[in-house]
Amino acid sequence: MDDKTLTDRLLAVIEDDILPKTLKGVSGGNKVFGAAILRKDDLSLVIAGTNDETSNPLWHGEVHTLKQFYELPDPPATRDLLFLSTHEPCTMCMSAITWAGFDNYFYFFSHEDSRDSFAIPHDLKIMKELYGLEPGGYRRKNAFFTARSIIDMAEACPEPARTGFIDRIDGIRKTYALASDTYQAHKGETKIPLG
Ligand SMILES: [Zn+2]
Repeated sequence: MDDKTLTDRLLAVIEDDILPKTLKGVSGGNKVFGAAILRKDDLSLVIAGTNDETSNPLWHGEVHTLKQFYELPDPPATRDLLFLSTHEPCTMCMSAITWAGFDNYFYFFSHEDSRDSFAIPHDLKIMKELYGLEPGGYRRKNAFFTARSIIDMAEACPEPARTGFIDRIDGIRKTYALASDTYQAHKGETKIPLG
């Protein structure tokens, strides 16, 4: 699977499968984080999900998607699957992805984006407080998984694909900025511990 095909598909899953669920979740007071699971062989979607912290503060987009994945009648083996996270996973979620047996994850926004553009600094703060890690200090390539930035993949693609991807990335960023405004405007109204 070449990076151009993969980038195109990952962006499409964010646009078409994750974002509609997230916009609905945000309207109910949940955070903007979402996730999806795809088959490696044909990039078909297995499941998409979004944050549901108003039900349970552990239902981050990634863990909530994994919960729903394991509730499927016959979930495929995780070694055959890709994990997509709209935001670089927090330490709980990257561990959950690891424990579930995935050898990869792909993310759109970075931890720094979550802090700077979404006013959610907890990922980086937990890494610093629990493990003494500075931003970017964890091993994105390790014995369990390789983590890749979708935006870096898009920027490394040849033209004209690159420009098309950058346009779509800008559109996705704009939609998330609006969703984030909605979340931030209402976050005091929920009982999410780390809002
Ligand atoms: Zn998380």
